[in-house]
Amino acid sequence: MSQQGYVAAPPYSQSQPGIGGFSSGFGAPNSPLHYGHYGDPNSSYSAPQPGMSKSTVPFGSSAPVGPPPPGTHQFSQTSFQNGPSTPGQQPHRFQGPPPPGPSYPPYSQQSQPAYPNTASTSPTAQLANQLNSMQINSYGPGTTLSSHMSSGHPASLQSPQLPPPTQQQVALPPGSQVPPPANNVNSLSAQSSLPPMARQDGIPGPVPPNPNLQQLSGQPPGPGYHPQQANYGPQMPGSQLSYPGAFPGGPAQLAGPQQKKLDPDSIPSPIQVIENDKTSRGGQIYATNTRGQVPPLVTTDCVIQDQGHASPRYIRCTTYCFPSSSDMAKQARIPLAAVIQPFTTVPPNETPLYVVNHGETGPIRCNRCKAYMCPFMQFIEGGRRYQCGFCSCINDVPPFFFQHLDHIGRRVDHYERPELSLGSYEYVATLDYCRNNKPPKPPAYIFMIDVSYRNVNSGLVKLICDELKTLLDKLPREEQEESSAIRVGFVTYNKVLHFFNVKSSLAQPQMMVVSDVGEVFVPLLDGFLVNFQESRSVVINLLDQIPEMFADTNESETIFAPVIQAGMEALKAAECAGKLFIFHSSLPTAEAPGKLRNRDDKKLLNTDKEKVFSTLNATYEALARDCVANGCCVNLFLFPNQHVDVASMGLVTMYTGGTLYKYNNFQLDADSPQFLSDLRKDVEKKTGFDAIMRVRTSTGFRATDFFGAIYMNNTTDVEMAAVDCDKAVTVEFKHDDKLNEDTGALIQCAVLYTSVSGHRRLRIHNIGLNCSSQLADVYKTCETDALINFFAKSAFKAILSQPLKTVREILVNQTAHMLACYRKNCASPSAASQLILPDAMKVLPVYMNCLLKSCVLTGRPEIPTDERAYHRQLVMAMGVADTQLLFYPQLLPIHSLDLKSDTVPAAVRCSEDRLAEGGAFLLANGLSMFLWLGVSTPPELIQGLFNVPSFAHISTEATSLPDLDNPLSKKLKSILERIQSQKPYAMKLMIVKQREQPEMFFRQFLVEDKGIYGGASYVDFLCCVHKEICQLLS
Ligand SMILES: [Zn+2]
Repeated sequence: MSQQGYVAAPPYSQSQPGIGGFSSGFGAPNSPLHYGHYGDPNSSYSAPQPGMSKSTVPFGSSAPVGPPPPGTHQFSQTSFQNGPSTPGQQPHRFQGPPPPGPSYPPYSQQSQPAYPNTASTSPTAQLANQLNSMQINSYGPGTTLSSHMSSGHPASLQSPQLPPPTQQQVALPPGSQVPPPANNVNSLSAQSSLPPMARQDGIPGPVPPNPNLQQLSGQPPGPGYHPQQANYGPQMPGSQLSYPGAFPGGPAQLAGPQQKKLDPDSIPSPIQVIENDKTSRGGQIYATNTRGQVPPLVTTDCVIQDQGHASPRYIRCTTYCFPSSSDMAKQARIPLAAVIQPFTTVPPNETPLYVVNHGETGPIRCNRCKAYMCPFMQFIEGGRRYQCGFCSCINDVPPFFFQHLDHIGRRVDHYERPELSLGSYEYVATLDYCRNNKPPKPPAYIFMIDVSYRNVNSGLVKLICDELKTLLDKLPREEQEESSAIRVGFVTYNKVLHFFNVKSSLAQPQMMVVSDVGEVFVPLLDGFLVNFQESRSVVINLLDQIPEMFADTNESETIFAPVIQAGMEALKAAECAGKLFIFHSSLPTAEAPGKLRNRDDKKLLNTDKEKVFSTLNATYEALARDCVANGCCVNLFLFPNQHVDVASMGLVTMYTGGTLYKYNNFQLDADSPQFLSDLRKDVEKKTGFDAIMRVRTSTGFRATDFFGAIYMNNTTDVEMAAVDCDKAVTVEFKHDDKLNEDTGALIQCAVLYTSVSGHRRLRIHNIGLNCSSQLADVYKTCETDALINFFAKSAFKAILSQPLKTVREILVNQTAHMLACYRKNCASPSAASQLILPDAMKVLPVYMNCLLKSCVLTGRPEIPTDERAYHRQLVMAMGVADTQLLFYPQLLPIHSLDLKSDTVPAAVRCSEDRLAEGGAFLLANGLSMFLWLGVSTPPELIQGLFNVPSFAHISTEATSLPDLDNPLSKKLKSILERIQSQKPYAMKLMIVKQREQPEMFFRQFLVEDKGIYGGASYVDFLCCVHKEICQLLS
């Protein structure tokens, strides 16, 4: 069991952006090249009793939905398809260290401008011609293809939708369920018999009557609401026709009457795709028993059953079939990536993770690559040895783990052991996996409150203190524990720091002032971090006193970096990991390390000197490094009235896996509910502390780039001072050899962390993908939502080193490239004027356009740089569901609510054309929420929701709806709650009345329209992409 000296050669050439040259962390620092650096399994640590931990549901118990009990065979024939371990199949041998992989990073070079001449030559004529000549085809209605990829029922896998026999015999192992190529019989017939994009939207509201679908031009927008005719407020930039290429210098102007317009109903609708998936897969059980199976969309509610691959709640991939060679991958340029959300919350009707405990021995790992025991390991020689699915090394089975094999070569105890039959599970970690080989202490939360004049005066300090009195009873704990093991500490600060001693034996809390902010030290150890239950009276006493203590303060200057430093030093001194909760409002201008100045310089916008997304103060980078090394996660709640340099102040938060919250111009009455909801959610969140993540892959490819609220000290270890349920890491993979179609592409993500109760654990997620030498297979299994998550994060990382314009061009270019490659290699021949979109990517252009229009990528003076830096930081840590909603908001018609039904109404497309003067609409994107009211909203509806007689009486000041005792109000409130409950950030409700000034702010969320800060409409962008594709193909 000793560690084998498998040296990872050649050294990975991937350069790591960010902070380098820092040697920290734990594990085996003296052998940084060894896989399995978590530690040596040989130890004398007497771990808890072997066997499965009692802390969670025993494996095989009667959980609502879970794996079948031991011995049952309800998996059917497909259940052994978890991995490459098809019985009897000769596995392929490890080929030695792979050669350096191909390199085609999307941002490694300056790409060609995406729109060479668009803006300069006769835009009107060009666009009109293009619109007229353009046809769009996505191979028929969305349901045809996705339905036979949907394997919600294992039974459906055996349906007639299987690949043709020849294909199955030649290329595929029995396990692969590769659906037929996109242009199969179904699709072809759809293509030839249906008009392009024939669909029934079924959308309520003033949608134009279903027009002649082949008539692509000449139709003015539907009746009702014409944006160009509305004449109120200042002229919006977006009300002029713009091109995608017209970023950022403002939209191109178009003289004359309204342009001939492509009918929006004839282009792929995200809503239709979402609704189709809900119809075909919603409410069902999705079993993860098949390699390379495409899961339901993130927007579809279903029950997920782990049968050997990690739930899509934990891992989503950009494609579920990797190209078998790097040449193919380069040709298609489809990013190969996985979005991993290792601590995501699973609904109560799904099984929580089982905990495996092998006692002193610790987890079983491959001797060579250090992968953990998982369903991808194949047992041989009567069960005495096993072959690693990742590196093919043959390992001895430890005697205590030996078990006989059954007639199909599977261990008899297969279903009794989570690590043999499940995609996700946890291991109890031994001392070797702990910092300094000592068991960890429970984590601590330190609350650090800015008590400068503004925060005291606004009532914020009192609000925080009052809330903490009740909130500290809700600190997270493990299910079997009576109370939380997390300790708490308190600091206040302005230009100096005040530490508080709240030891339970004291009658009164004691304050200690640290005024030397250049060299912060922790003035007390004993009594600073306490158990809330034990020190309750002293802590409550302190929280009562703080607002009064600083009531007369005149201090307006603040420090910031020394605050983080102090918190980190306190955790370090207490030898525990933890979270800082910092409540701060102003630019830290006091003389101290990390002092910042206002650099919100509009003149630098869109120039090479514009460094809005990175810090100019080296203090923060060094601090981030130290925090990660000490397991100190920084949560930052900002309450700015003006520029505060979010890029600098948020940097430590970003690198430590913390969360940034920002409340502009905080008003106690209007903004408290949002802030308090965020604070409560954050304090109560399930979190892993002092975490390190490692992603292993089977031979032929490897993880090359990582995006998230993470810190990387080398090319393979993803460090997170903490990782909570909402944080996702996006991992990009590249080939370094050919992939084996039989064994597939296997991924294992292991997160070593300390639990809220101070236990060291390993959380393992495994997923197997298919491989194919047919590009059509790759396109067919793409997931647009995951692709957009990847594109957003990679672009938002690239803007640190490249001009915005270049990054935008690369995004457009890559979109066109992926679609052109499909057209060239997978689609049946058709006229060049036809735009052909692969079914699984048909809404990629609309999402891509939304990404291009995000405030981060549009360098416009109207958008404060802090706002852009804030959005960038949020997106970098988001999972697929959150980026999906952020880039394409949910727009719900609430004037047509079915009050008898329990369901949320179907959304409509995010376009002004879908709004109706006589309707009310709810829009939510995960950060903001609006209730938009048309000028002719029926009085009954207004009365029912606002308890006022007419439109004119509605106050737009309100940030919530009154509690009214009528079905409509109750129904809307429950919808609001439901949307909110699924999102990490509290959304403040804004009431927007049609044709009143604030509507402009709302309009930027109508993402299919031209952006109010520039940016193309969906239709225009589609034309632009089509043109790019034509150029690539000619
Ligand atoms: Zn191995």
